[in-house]
Amino acid sequence: MVYDVDKIKASGTAMPYLPAPLDMPTAVPNKPSPTTTEKKSHMSNEQEEEEFIKNNYVARTLLNEPELPPMTWSNWYTQINWPQATLLCLEPLVALYGLFTTSFMWQTIVFTIIWYFLTGFGITAGYHRLFAHRSYEARLPLRYFLLILGAGSVQGSAQWWSRGHRAHHRYTDTDLDPYSAHKGMFYSHIGWLLFKPRRKPGVADISDLTNDKSVQWQHRNYLSLAFFLSFVFPTLVCGLGWGDYRGGYFFAGVLRLVFVHHSTFCVNSLAHYLGDAPFDDRRTPRDHFVTALVTLGEGYHNFHHEFPSDYRNALKWFQYDPTKCLIAFFKLIRLAHNLKEFPQNEIKKGRYSMARKALDQFGRTITWPKTNAELPIISFEEYQRLSKQEDGRVLVLIAGFIHDVSNFIDSHPGGRALIKNHVGKDATVAFYGGTHDHNTAAHNMLAMMRVAACKYGGEVEHIKKRLGHVQTPTPIFA
Ligand SMILES: [Zn+2]
Ligand SMILES: [Zn+2]
Repeated sequence: MVYDVDKIKASGTAMPYLPAPLDMPTAVPNKPSPTTTEKKSHMSNEQEEEEFIKNNYVARTLLNEPELPPMTWSNWYTQINWPQATLLCLEPLVALYGLFTTSFMWQTIVFTIIWYFLTGFGITAGYHRLFAHRSYEARLPLRYFLLILGAGSVQGSAQWWSRGHRAHHRYTDTDLDPYSAHKGMFYSHIGWLLFKPRRKPGVADISDLTNDKSVQWQHRNYLSLAFFLSFVFPTLVCGLGWGDYRGGYFFAGVLRLVFVHHSTFCVNSLAHYLGDAPFDDRRTPRDHFVTALVTLGEGYHNFHHEFPSDYRNALKWFQYDPTKCLIAFFKLIRLAHNLKEFPQNEIKKGRYSMARKALDQFGRTITWPKTNAELPIISFEEYQRLSKQEDGRVLVLIAGFIHDVSNFIDSHPGGRALIKNHVGKDATVAFYGGTHDHNTAAHNMLAMMRVAACKYGGEVEHIKKRLGHVQTPTPIFA
């Protein structure tokens, strides 16, 4: 006897006894592998940091290319990107002025909505999914059509836009991401356009775009295209069409541009804050219906960052992604082909890992039974001997574990006698169907009553061992 029952009982613990290990060592905690130990032993923290910086492009670049000095009250006016800031701040004011001073014509309203969608699609189906991500291939007329519409949304040339966007995907949430969500919602929405960036975005390969004639044509003619399509064209359509030059300029021109701008900006701000992360939560992109609604379907941004060259943003039929439908329509009329989709199997892996993570988190809120590594191991004879002691404990051996059921025996749904009959015996068969095939809750509750593990698992194994049938001394719980 190597444990003192009276002493444990006197301490008043709910567990009537805690036997110390007998002749078996308890599980030894896993030792760290020699390689890890060696690595830790010969590298100081500074050396480890140096090694990390040497092997990490972002860390290396941030260290070697210091950012511009911070903006202060004395230098702020030199740090503003005046052309962009003027356009972005003036356009809502001009639109408001137009709203209060111009009468509405239904034809203008309809055209404004159509022109909003068309120039918006120039960004989502054109700049974003075609040029930045190459998620499908488009025939030349469609490429030019999308480049012209994209210019009408006044967001820079497709080449400039895609260069920044590729850096955004490659360095998401770091200081090399031109509109990093970690710099705050205002910065990622519009701040990065109002002020001169503190550092250049990380490198991104755009050789495909610099070698593309259509993209280069738009890049060269961007300013005149943007001015014509954003202001002149809508004014002319409404003016020549139904005599509403003023409404054409203020509504289809300026007001529409405000909406197109902030719709795109929401992809960098809202889509990195609002919603959930069904595929990967290590970075900020999120999926949300509301974001999809205001961005022509770019709101399933968690999926998009995981599978950027997939032509879809929304996977389910009920999720709002008109850009996806438009690209499918382009395919139908043979203007687009090779629409890229990530394999379902890989998409499922993302969902699986996040579901598992959530399940693990839930599991950590539950108290689990002790494992064999946390319990003392006693022999079958010792178990029998302890069961006969008149100390108030009721010990039952089931599935290799010895359970103290003294606090439970009176509430056993099958009655007290059934348990009493198995005290000091191996009740595994009885518990697993010999008498009653217990439900899962019973298994879970029983496991919480574990107080020791039985050497060699139970009575059968114990007898085999005694008769010399088991050649190896390895216990089943080792
Ligand atoms: Zn993003
Ligand atoms: Zn993207």
